[in-house]
Amino acid sequence: MTEPVDPSESKLKTRALPGVETREPSITPPPSASDQTPLKRPKPVSGGPRKRLMPEGIWTKCPKCQETIYRKELEAKLNVCWQCGYHFPLTAWERVSSLIDGDSFVQADSEMSSVDVLSFPGYLSKLESNQQKTGMKDAVITGLGLLHGRKVALGVMDFGFNGGSMGSVVGEKLTRIIESATEQSLPVIICSTSGGARMYEGMFSLMQMAKTCGALAYHGREKLPFISVLTDPTMAGVMASFASVGDLILAEPAARIGFAGPRVIKDTTKAELPKGFQTAEFLRDHGLIDAIVPRKELKGRLAWYLDCLMASRDAAQA
Ligand SMILES: [Zn+2]
Repeated sequence: MTEPVDPSESKLKTRALPGVETREPSITPPPSASDQTPLKRPKPVSGGPRKRLMPEGIWTKCPKCQETIYRKELEAKLNVCWQCGYHFPLTAWERVSSLIDGDSFVQADSEMSSVDVLSFPGYLSKLESNQQKTGMKDAVITGLGLLHGRKVALGVMDFGFNGGSMGSVVGEKLTRIIESATEQSLPVIICSTSGGARMYEGMFSLMQMAKTCGALAYHGREKLPFISVLTDPTMAGVMASFASVGDLILAEPAARIGFAGPRVIKDTTKAELPKGFQTAEFLRDHGLIDAIVPRKELKGRLAWYLDCLMASRDAAQA
């Protein structure tokens, strides 16, 4: 993040060096003839942390340990802080490339996009701005690809697209990729991140909960595995549907996972919430989540789980 530049400083040429803590003027231009304002002595910096100059896009700050990290280095480590292990969010495409071999991913339904079925004020412009921001048509990418040489059906959500909300397109794309997996006897992996159902589509978005779970039930009847990967945050209608019915449910460290938010629960129940409530670690300790897997281990662990689950299926059918 770049510190906002005070417009009053814009007349000073500054040196912006990565890692340099203070902004020091290198050249002060002479006042022009028309500028009669007397020169003011700059105020000395007193107290408080010094402002850091971080050119946008080059440096970023870890929200957990406050370490300043070179963005390229962060990307090379799958957006995980090398210092404290904080997992920064991944875009859907970054997640796909972190899991799928080379260029083996074949995207399905890439052109499917939402319609404003309820004529909800502002929905179409919201969709448009999210499409421009993310380069995606909607909040999920689905397709088939190879994971360490094993063919899988993959769905990956992107929180950057309208909070990863599930509308008709998210539900339909996931349903279709699950149905393709059933037809082709493939395992399904879905990496979720979502604030829940998409309010702009009202009940149509709630119907996606049943539809996706229905498709997974048919997939399960064929004894094919579904691995649900929960990433920060996975909440509400997504957690209350397909994300929580995996044969295996994995989560990234410290991911927030739940149905209603903690403040709503606290206000409703009038009770103190236990420490670590709605974190991946808390839910693993209470039996909802099978394993917490750091991002750099995820691909290898998925391959191993798939081998175990598909081997037991093959043995049962033999
Ligand atoms: Zn950190």
